Amino acid sequence: MLLGLRGKLNPKNNVVNNNSNQGKENGTAFNDVTMSATRNQHFNGKSRRKGNSDTDDELLDMMPLTNQTTSFYQDDSEDDPLLGDRSFQVRPTQTPKSASPSSHLIQSLDDSIAGMEDYGTYDDFHTIDWLREMSRNRLRHRQITHRKKESWHLKLRALHDAWSGWLVVLLVGLSAGTCAGIIDIVTKWLSDVKLGVCPEKFWLNKESCCWNSETVTPSGSNCTKWLAWSDVFGMSAQNAQGVYAVNYVMYIVVAVILATFAGLLVKVFAPYACGSGIPEVKTILSGFIIRGYLGKWTLLIKSLAAPLSVAANLSLGKEGPLVHIAACCGNIFSYLFPKYGKNEAKKREVLSAAAAAGVSVAFGAPVGGVLFSLEEVSYYFPMKTLWRSFFCALTAAFVLRSMNPYGNSHLVMFYVKYNKPWFLFELVPFALVGVLGGLYGAAFIHANLRWCKFRSTSKLGKYPILEVLVLTIITAAASYPNPFTKVDASAMIAELVQECTPVSKLTDPNLCDYEELPVNQTYSVSHGHQLAPVGEGLRTAIWQLAVALIFKAVITVFTFGVKLPTGLFIPSMGVGAIMGRLIGIGMEQLVYAYPDCVLWASSCSTNTIRESCVTPGLYAMVGAAAALGGVTRMTVSLVVIMFELTGGLQYIVPLMAAAMFSKWAGDAFGNEGIYDGHIRLNGYPFLDNKEEFTHTTLATDVMMPRRGDPPLKVVLQENMTVGDLEHLVKTTTYNGFPVITSQDSYRLLGYIYRRDLMVALENARHHSENVLSNSKAYFTLHAPTLSTSGVNEPAPVRLFNVVDLSPITVTDHTPMEIVVEIFTKLGIRQALVTHNGRLLGIITKKDVLRHIARLNKQDPDSIMFN
Ligand code: ADP
Repeated sequence: MLLGLRGKLNPKNNVVNNNSNQGKENGTAFNDVTMSATRNQHFNGKSRRKGNSDTDDELLDMMPLTNQTTSFYQDDSEDDPLLGDRSFQVRPTQTPKSASPSSHLIQSLDDSIAGMEDYGTYDDFHTIDWLREMSRNRLRHRQITHRKKESWHLKLRALHDAWSGWLVVLLVGLSAGTCAGIIDIVTKWLSDVKLGVCPEKFWLNKESCCWNSETVTPSGSNCTKWLAWSDVFGMSAQNAQGVYAVNYVMYIVVAVILATFAGLLVKVFAPYACGSGIPEVKTILSGFIIRGYLGKWTLLIKSLAAPLSVAANLSLGKEGPLVHIAACCGNIFSYLFPKYGKNEAKKREVLSAAAAAGVSVAFGAPVGGVLFSLEEVSYYFPMKTLWRSFFCALTAAFVLRSMNPYGNSHLVMFYVKYNKPWFLFELVPFALVGVLGGLYGAAFIHANLRWCKFRSTSKLGKYPILEVLVLTIITAAASYPNPFTKVDASAMIAELVQECTPVSKLTDPNLCDYEELPVNQTYSVSHGHQLAPVGEGLRTAIWQLAVALIFKAVITVFTFGVKLPTGLFIPSMGVGAIMGRLIGIGMEQLVYAYPDCVLWASSCSTNTIRESCVTPGLYAMVGAAAALGGVTRMTVSLVVIMFELTGGLQYIVPLMAAAMFSKWAGDAFGNEGIYDGHIRLNGYPFLDNKEEFTHTTLATDVMMPRRGDPPLKVVLQENMTVGDLEHLVKTTTYNGFPVITSQDSYRLLGYIYRRDLMVALENARHHSENVLSNSKAYFTLHAPTLSTSGVNEPAPVRLFNVVDLSPITVTDHTPMEIVVEIFTKLGIRQALVTHNGRLLGIITKKDVLRHIARLNKQDPDSIMFN
């Protein structure tokens, strides 16, 4: 993955685009507009008015002309942002007082100004500066609110801007719900194709095919409209072995076809569509740029490949991928609204809401989705995002509900309704289930990460399709003989969480097969079932469940991470549900064997008959939560998802107990969940805001350059030419350069982003033919008096406006724990280090991450991009 992503690094990313209409808009705003942003910028704004001399006008004033930041901005002295608003000084060129040729030149060139939309954007695989993005947004917002009184058109624009946040999440919710509904329907159909076809209407799954069949039984087994593959091939029912063999082979063949097709789709069209996508979405939400990861191709291919891979009966789910799919919808729709599309921090607000919608539709759990987004994936989650996520999740759930993919009147996937409450003594086995779930999670994370590492470092990684093929054959061949693994995992979980009732004895003959005990005349077991020893069928089921448990636990280790859309929620829950059900049955037998034990004697016995007071289905539900908690280390969101998933609100305490014990047990072996593990494995620059930095190092230990390294590349306030600057950006790859007053003093003036500098230089060249390589570049407000009367004389350029005048600075003795806090809390991408007021070095987010890796005895170079 690391290599793959590195391979995508494209030097062309740095090339400024030449297609912009924005100049048109900006051209209208050229006159008499000034902006001030920070307190010092306000001050600068005033100074500028004073110092707006002819001399100044002669200077080409190079500012980025994004329509976000420059157009129609008024001088808003009253409305200066508070301290900490570190917007860039972005000021449109003032029209020279005299109608000079250059003024005409500027206007006419505006239409073709290059790359203006690149201003303030980031390259692929770079980290964003949250603080900077937020201030850009504040500036943009202020522009709009200031101008709304001017005309009804601008008022409408302001209105549109205000409600666009809700509109975008509405669209995301609608699209995520629709995608999930379609994916569910297709998955159901494809899953059944492994078993047979509906010849009359091939597009129907077994359930829909048998819907109108007169001969249908509750299990659908007598439905004549649905043909198993052996029937399609005309096998006689007498030849039982032949029938079994044909159905078995067809099961494997169809699974292989589906999985290979999915693998090819991913490999050929959208390599980013593999995996669950949650680690990457989490990294993106933390402020990293991975272009194309949330694009339309990824959306399309993942939506196609997810049902195919699930239907191939591989040990994976579509729920994790649905989070990625919803995030793709979020990303795509955010481009309809420049407020979100052109601002990386604002875009992440939409993505957070989209992630909530993803879980909402994956499990039919809107509130759980919001909490999942908050607890697991989001980095920055203000109240506004919480509400919008709620709305987005609600919309998505509503759309899904309207499509009714689960085919029942409940929105939930695994609807449970137990006749028995749970008893206090059961908290002990619930805690045990929790601990086992946590241990399973820890073992799974360890094994899976090792396998994924092996995959990426060995030849195995070069043959993704072959790997998928082999895995599918093994999985299908091993799954078919076992009724619990033959069906897809969600159907298995749905079966395991059910309680045994007189009716379920018909539908689940094995799982609910207890020995018949004479029933007391005066009491009949009408709802639950009688506490009785395990029957023959249940004994078989226990063996099958035990085999399924081992098989699923092992195969999931090898499946999570193949080049297919692979979700982990359902496989983990499947393992946990089996484990829970087995423990539940064990518990039930314990109560039967020792009826007088003080722990349960009072709760369980009645005078006449002992109706089972232990519900193994509940243990399966708790087990599912425990295993999922162990793997992901979720707690609050997990419990909410679980009770939304099952409708079992009254079982919240057992679920909470299991989730807590699972987390404690898992954390005993390292507190990173599977997503964090994959983030680390793939080397994503994710600075965890939940982790504490406990070391005692100082900023000076981390800053660059180190002793013996070449000196810091800086930009001088005055003594550089356009050629020098162009050479600087050409010969270095740094994302930005500190601006200092002079080589002697090394006093810090600000920081300039490489991309903004490039855009500004390009802009300058377009503005005037007189901007030559030997044109002087000024990063000061007050440029020295210059005479530029000569036609061929190089025109000086002022680049003051693209400088960030309030970069975050720390001193060399600042403890790293404070530096890390600054990075995580403010979301900055670099901090400058000073000593006695002199600039000394720079620390970027990746430097911090490298430092943490080094302290944790990991290889710092193996986990970073660039
Ligand atoms: P990132 O760390 O995100 O890749 P850069 O590409 O800007 O960001 O920086 C790469 C490395 O170079 C970092 O270790 C950083 O400390 C250092 N660095 C950044 N800017 C400069 C600069 N102007 N001069 C010298 N070193 C720099």
